[in-house]
Amino acid sequence: MRMASFEAFACDGCKSLFARSQSRCRRCGAPTVLSITLSGRGTLTSFTTIRVPPTVFQGQEPYDIAVIDLDEGLRVTARLTVAEGREAAIGDPAVFEEMRPYGPVFRLI
Ligand SMILES: [Zn+2]
Repeated sequence: MRMASFEAFACDGCKSLFARSQSRCRRCGAPTVLSITLSGRGTLTSFTTIRVPPTVFQGQEPYDIAVIDLDEGLRVTARLTVAEGREAAIGDPAVFEEMRPYGPVFRLI
């Protein structure tokens, strides 16, 4: 099974996690936000199927956009891959698959 670790960022002061690099912590203002590696494991918190995508994604529809709560506590919005014949449900486990130019891709397991 393919699975990748998820690159994220953590404040050196309050330990808040962020999906994107920060020049200083959005929560406590500390100037040091470090790159960290998370497990890439998480839980499906919500999802929606896009049937009428923005122009840049036309031809990829339908596709699913999900909110994933990573085990370490970081919440990310991601493209969701669901196996043929499978129905996604809130609470399903998901793993990080790869980073694309438009953002992360997770897959239900
Ligand atoms: Zn902080």
